Amino acid sequence: MVLSLFDDASKRLAQALKFVNISDDAIEHLKYPKASLSVSIPVRMDDGSLKFFPGYRVRYDDTRGPTKGGVRYHPGVNLDEVQSLAFWMTFKCAVLNLPYGGGKGGITVNPKDLSRLELERLSRGYVDAIADFIGPNVDILAPDVYTNQMIMGWMMDQYSIIKRQISPAVVTGKPVTMGGSLGRETATAMGAFFIIEQMMGKLDRHPQETTVAVQGFGNAGGTIAELLAKVGYKVVAVSDSQGGIYAKQGLDIPSIRQYKNSSRGIQAIYCQGTVCNIVEHELITNADLLTLDVDILIPAALENQITAANANQIQARYIFEVANGPITSAADAILEQKGILVFPDILINAGGVTVSYFEWVQNRSGLYWTLEEVNQRLKAKMTAEANHIWSIAQEMGTSLRNAAYIHALNRLGEAIDAKGTRDYYTSSH
Ligand code: NAD
Repeated sequence: MVLSLFDDASKRLAQALKFVNISDDAIEHLKYPKASLSVSIPVRMDDGSLKFFPGYRVRYDDTRGPTKGGVRYHPGVNLDEVQSLAFWMTFKCAVLNLPYGGGKGGITVNPKDLSRLELERLSRGYVDAIADFIGPNVDILAPDVYTNQMIMGWMMDQYSIIKRQISPAVVTGKPVTMGGSLGRETATAMGAFFIIEQMMGKLDRHPQETTVAVQGFGNAGGTIAELLAKVGYKVVAVSDSQGGIYAKQGLDIPSIRQYKNSSRGIQAIYCQGTVCNIVEHELITNADLLTLDVDILIPAALENQITAANANQIQARYIFEVANGPITSAADAILEQKGILVFPDILINAGGVTVSYFEWVQNRSGLYWTLEEVNQRLKAKMTAEANHIWSIAQEMGTSLRNAAYIHALNRLGEAIDAKGTRDYYTSSH
């Protein structure tokens, strides 16, 4: 039986619940999304026709604060995916102890088919459609797959027009000139980088002897490949939606990034170049990349990349999940049996939401931080929570994923109970 993405995501919750002592109320609470909104967004196309695009926003849980989460533009976006991503955001924000709940949004569209003006009308139309569902104290947007700073700027501007007041804190990942934070664009990869460095130190591995393969060469994947290569890791394979490249001696990551950026097309704002056009390498498929004999594998594209069908062929020793949900629960069990150490998404890619939180704090205080301040605070938060999760895994003899969920569940359970009435009814006084 094929499980929906959300059913599979919920399995991680069920598994972690065996290890924590939280109330039945809290458990019930976390099984269901608080609110889901489906909209149809009308867009006047450049040829004069009118087209409607399906859009979604899910606020999964707001016990610990306003919901927070990205907006994805992709042809595969649907409510099940958005709800799963909002569920993961809930746990991610709790793992990092951010004063947020989890949310997510998306539009079912291939943005590469739109002109830049069509894309702007679509983005503003999305905000028109969900304006009553979001807000700086309610639900805060951010970038995700195929959305970026420019789109976040349009969204913030549209919201401000609707509310007739400048509202920078409703969207994070904005251009710096519109109140964006320094370091937000690189934050997801930077957060992952800090933990990879910390963990490789713990495991006594040196960058020069460590090979890396990265699936997905976008904001998160391209940046992590560059950060790792810069300190000496041998990045031997990278890929994007059109395929991958492999070079045993290591790839020249800065020139691949430069190539992808310089081949930016005039249509919309998406890079038209592909990593496959770079010379001196072997062409490989995305499926080949996942099963390469490397030390570190970094999925940084989409969900469900490592499943029961290919988990047995994975040869990497460590997997750092920069993407959300790249490994299914069935694959988790196989990887664990093979002794592969998986560092879970709700910790590894949490640098993005952490600097989004910093951006929100800066917007609300009106006081802006230097890049050094942002990165110092990010490093302190990421490495402290990673250490905590590592200790839970060691003490309880469980996987790092389970340990991350346990860590989050303890915080979520406490917050839900603090708001609830259960004690009043069950107390003997
Ligand atoms: P992006 O749009 O910048 O990049 C996505 C990359 O994946 C592109 O290079 C694209 O070509 C590639 N890709 C698409 N389909 C693919 C496929 N089938 N196989 C291989 N590559 C494919 O997106 P991003 O922001 O880097 O997000 C990547 C992942 O990281 C997503 O899972 C996202 O949810 C997660 N994430 C992003 C952020 C953030 O701040 N941007 C934060 C946390 C998690």
